[in-house]
Amino acid sequence: MEKFYVTTPIYYVTAKPHLGHAFATIVADILARWNRILGKEVFFLTGTDEHGTKIEKAAREAGKTPKEFVDEVANMYMGAWKALDISYDKFIRTTDEEHEKAVSEFVRLVWDNKDIYKGVYEGWYCVPDETFIADFEVKDGKCPECGRDVQRVKEDAYFFALSSYKEDLLRIFEENPDFVKPNSRLNEIVKILKGTLRDLDITRKSVTWGIPFEPDKEQTVYVWFDALINYISALGWPNGSKFTEFWPADVHIVGKEISRFHAVIWPAMLLSAGIDLPKTILVHGWWTVEGKKMGKSLGNAVNPIDLSKKYSVDALRYFLVKEKSIWEDGDFSESGLVSRINGELLADLGNLVARVLTLAEKFKGKIDGKAEIADNLNMSRIMELFDGYDINGALNEIWAFVRSINKYINDTEPWKLDGPRLGTVLNNSLEALRIISILLYPFMPSTSESMQAQLGIKLGTINDCKFGTFNGKVKRGKNLFDKIVTA
Ligand SMILES: [Zn+2]
Repeated sequence: MEKFYVTTPIYYVTAKPHLGHAFATIVADILARWNRILGKEVFFLTGTDEHGTKIEKAAREAGKTPKEFVDEVANMYMGAWKALDISYDKFIRTTDEEHEKAVSEFVRLVWDNKDIYKGVYEGWYCVPDETFIADFEVKDGKCPECGRDVQRVKEDAYFFALSSYKEDLLRIFEENPDFVKPNSRLNEIVKILKGTLRDLDITRKSVTWGIPFEPDKEQTVYVWFDALINYISALGWPNGSKFTEFWPADVHIVGKEISRFHAVIWPAMLLSAGIDLPKTILVHGWWTVEGKKMGKSLGNAVNPIDLSKKYSVDALRYFLVKEKSIWEDGDFSESGLVSRINGELLADLGNLVARVLTLAEKFKGKIDGKAEIADNLNMSRIMELFDGYDINGALNEIWAFVRSINKYINDTEPWKLDGPRLGTVLNNSLEALRIISILLYPFMPSTSESMQAQLGIKLGTINDCKFGTFNGKVKRGKNLFDKIVTA
């Protein structure tokens, strides 16, 4: 059976799940569900990143031990993903014992390959961002990211010989133009690589909330080096059978702020350890909310769970994918969400299902007849868009099909028909709804389920997305979507 392995970033537990996290996780869920109905065996990984000074600090401020603190926030993420219908196969935490063991083993391999050496780290450090900042980026002693004071740090540290992988990485990017998607992000990464690539400090003496660095127990492994290894430790690397089955990953979904870690540092680490590279790093764009940048420190994070309760999980999932292409930035607004619910989910889909099922329930004749609208569905285009991870393009293509069925109903006016002609129009319309229920499954799983319940059918696979004779048992249920009335 063909395999598909998709990952989200593991989220750093100083922030509660916000819309940005929800977006990346929903994108991964859509790819996982799509590949399941393609008939592949899927492994979908998400989780939390739980080490480092920022977490020690956040725990202290909350009056908790780091362990109590990370347990609480990890539970919050699991709850959020349950609420948003996220069908992950594994939730990894970097404080899991199997992960910590894998990190030590990874360090051993890189050490044995002589890619780790001792040096002195000196530089500016932003504690809340947990980021070392280059001298030229610091302005008036402030962090360029958050504007807070930076600290001068000087201590013994171990370095990973990242710079020695520069040529290998450039060659890999050249040979695999899809290694980073979209292409514009790949070009940025290549530009960074062609500049000065410095070795990476991978341990900290001053950080205690981390995985011990085995070659020198006074040090802990730097949080980024630790975190990236989750993608293989979750599969039970080095000995787990899941690792043999699912690695290399088909796609790591990451935000653009962490693309450098995934496209430069992670592949170099894998090269050093002698492990195959992932196939694609998919870099998504950012969301602003009502025109403002999102984030905990800016205090305007919208809560995706509240939104999903107020509207519906599926409406939120639909909006986030329909509103923009995944690699571009976009703006979230509640009015935009409402307008897509009323103008698309209800007007195009909900009403269509209600109209067709009402007619079909009343009709006493035989529902069959030749396919008249098979050409409205461009399956090969949908497959191609999914293959290129353009799920916004795929949803647009599916929606064009939904709209074409509305047009078919308006053109044929089945409410004026009877007999075999009505049987044919109903057969085409019901078959179209059945196919739509399969195609929308990755995006809106409960809407898809509700359509199938009303059509009296079971979820099929992609192979079932072709017109035939409808053989469900129609029973109209409650409306898929209700009109949102705003004051
Ligand atoms: Zn900062």
